Amino acid sequence: MDNGTIPMLDLKIQYQSLKTELDAAIMRVIESAQFINGPDVEALEQDVARYCGANHCIGVSSGSDALLVSLMALDIGQGDEVVTTPYTFFATAGAIARVGAIPVFVDIDPVTFNIDTKAIDAKITPRTKAIMPVHLFGQCAEMDPIMKIADRHKLAVIEDAAQAIGSEYKGRRAGSMGTVGCYSFFPSKNLGCFGDGGAVVTQDRELADKIRLLRNHGAHPKYFHKIVGGNFRLDTIHAAVLRVKLKHLDNWTLGRQQGAAYYTAALSKYGVQGRFVEAPKVMQSRHIFNQYVIRCDDRETLREHLKRDKITTEVYYPQAMHLQECFAYLGGRPGEFPESERAAQTSLALPMYPELPNAQRDRIVRSIAACYEAASQTTRRAA
Ligand SMILES: *Cc1c(COP(=O)(O)O)cnc(C)c1O
Repeated sequence: MDNGTIPMLDLKIQYQSLKTELDAAIMRVIESAQFINGPDVEALEQDVARYCGANHCIGVSSGSDALLVSLMALDIGQGDEVVTTPYTFFATAGAIARVGAIPVFVDIDPVTFNIDTKAIDAKITPRTKAIMPVHLFGQCAEMDPIMKIADRHKLAVIEDAAQAIGSEYKGRRAGSMGTVGCYSFFPSKNLGCFGDGGAVVTQDRELADKIRLLRNHGAHPKYFHKIVGGNFRLDTIHAAVLRVKLKHLDNWTLGRQQGAAYYTAALSKYGVQGRFVEAPKVMQSRHIFNQYVIRCDDRETLREHLKRDKITTEVYYPQAMHLQECFAYLGGRPGEFPESERAAQTSLALPMYPELPNAQRDRIVRSIAACYEAASQTTRRAA
């Protein structure tokens, strides 16, 4: 970033703070020449299982593959239906389509951005095999009603916890409540590796064994294939990096939570909150703030204003899934999921990383306040 620009995320600061330890961990893998599986992957799996409150963890090649291999392990395929949210990163719905199943969308709760659990029941059919809730931006979906519906209809629950490692719902960790939980170690997630990586957790030993098999082309023993899997392995170098980083995750989460609290307080101090901005709802939960997202009616004006003030923002996500070109065959139409569409038009993510100084956050909030002040003066002149 050029001088003075506030980025969305600054991974260089994090690397510098752990450089000695990370470099040593990587060098150990290189010197051992064990690049595939091995003790680092096994140790990371144990660490992640413990951290997430699950009995089993299987390291995989990405968050997208975590979702894919989970669907494969649950024998979900051609003609099956999976209920999920249209307001998410593409990989959620993409994984469902890739196994030949049909993503069936349910609108979101406008306050939490997560699936509206009251609307799920109406979408269950005899073909429904699973519910795939997403814990968006680091806040858990309402898991109690989801698990109740799943129990009643004998459905699997695949938690897309890619943005939510360590987040909690009523004292339970994201990923540990459903049939399986899927994490991503993409660099911009709260626990990121130095490339692509992911993990699946489950309480069910049989399912864990099957996912382990699928991760390695279904081979057991080597060159004898029970089922058709793929290469879904987590690279050993990434596992070594993640083991170093996991020890710091709670500290980083605290930094993000404090940063989020600062944003919320500062936004309301400048009279912004309530008028134009909804702060994320504080639930009976541990929100890990993978993103801090505000709402604004005139998003493009605000984004331009912030850009002139050298503040980076991002839109997660500008197009809901039912309106994606590749899902036209599902017959989605505009207006079908109004809250998801409104979120796609009005949500704006602000810079969020634990090392972001409060002085910078203040600069961001003052810039937002100045933009709204200018807008309300224009409105007054027009009146
Ligand atoms: C990042 C993400 C994924 C995919 O993870 P990758 O590691 O990038 O493949 C899936 N779902 C959600 C909600 C995500 O944010």
